[in-house]
Amino acid sequence: MRIDVVSIFPDYLAPLELSLVGKARREGILDLQVHDLRAWTTDRHRTVDDTPFGGGAGMVMRPDVWGTALDHLLEPSTSSAAPGATTLLIPTPSGAPLTQQDAEELAGRERLIIACGRYEGIDARVAEHYAQRPEVTVREFSLGDYVLNGGEVAALVLVEAVARLLPGVVGNPASLVEESHSTAPGGGLLEYPVYTKPATWRGLAAPDVLLSGHHGKVARWRRDQALRRTAQRRPDLIAGLDQATLDEADRAVL
Ligand code: SAM
Repeated sequence: MRIDVVSIFPDYLAPLELSLVGKARREGILDLQVHDLRAWTTDRHRTVDDTPFGGGAGMVMRPDVWGTALDHLLEPSTSSAAPGATTLLIPTPSGAPLTQQDAEELAGRERLIIACGRYEGIDARVAEHYAQRPEVTVREFSLGDYVLNGGEVAALVLVEAVARLLPGVVGNPASLVEESHSTAPGGGLLEYPVYTKPATWRGLAAPDVLLSGHHGKVARWRRDQALRRTAQRRPDLIAGLDQATLDEADRAVL
C-alpha cells in the first residue's frame, strides 16, 4: 500500500518512523511518504492560505496550492488511473466519524492521500473537484466531536489504524480479531479487561478464572465481561448489534 501525507508541518509526522508503522515501512509493507505542501507554492513567501471570502476570523487554505500538490501526487507515474484507485482523505471536524470499519475498508485500498488542513481548513472546492475525478474517491473524516489545530494528528491516527491491519504488520493476526470494535463475527463489542503477572498486585487479584486453565470458562468470562462493559460504557454499540449473533448466555448478561 502507498500512503502520501501532505502537510505544512511534515515534521509533525515523524512518529510514523517508529514502532510497527516504522517497521512496516522499512520492510516494504507500507510505502509511506510525507510531503511539505509549501513545496508546491510559487511565491516568495510560500503562501498556502488567504482570508476567507465572506469575511470572518482566520485564514483558509488556498485551493490552487492544494490542487498543484494533489495533481502532482496523482500523476500517472505515481498512481493508477483506474476508477477510484486513489482515496483522498481530508480530515475535518465536519466529516463522518472514523470507525474501525472505515479502517478495514481503507486497508484494502492501493493508495491513500491524506490532506492535512490547518487554519480554518481547506477551501471546499478541493474536495468538490477531486470527487469529480473518476480515479479519486474523496472521504472527509473526523476523529471526533472536538476541534484540533490541524489534520496531522488525524493523519497519524488514520495511518496507524490502517497500517496495523495490513498483512505482516501485527505479529499475531489473531490479536486483531478479538479487539474492541472488531467487525469479525461476534464482534462489535468493547474488549474484555485484560490482566498479566503478578497474579496479585497491590492487594488486587486477577480473576481466578483466568488462571484456571479452563479455556471454555475463560472464553465465556471474557464474552460476559465484553458484553457488560459495552452495555455500561457504550449502550449505542449494544443497540447496534445484530441480535442473531447473540446466544442465550449473551442475552442473560444483557
Ligand atoms: N474551522 C473548522 C471547523 O470549525 O470545522 C476547524 C478547522 S481546524 C482548526 C484545522 C484543521 O484541523 C482541519 O482542517 C482539520 O484538518 C483538522 N481537524 C480539526 N479537528 C479535527 C477533527 N475532529 N477531526 C479531524 N480533523 C480535524
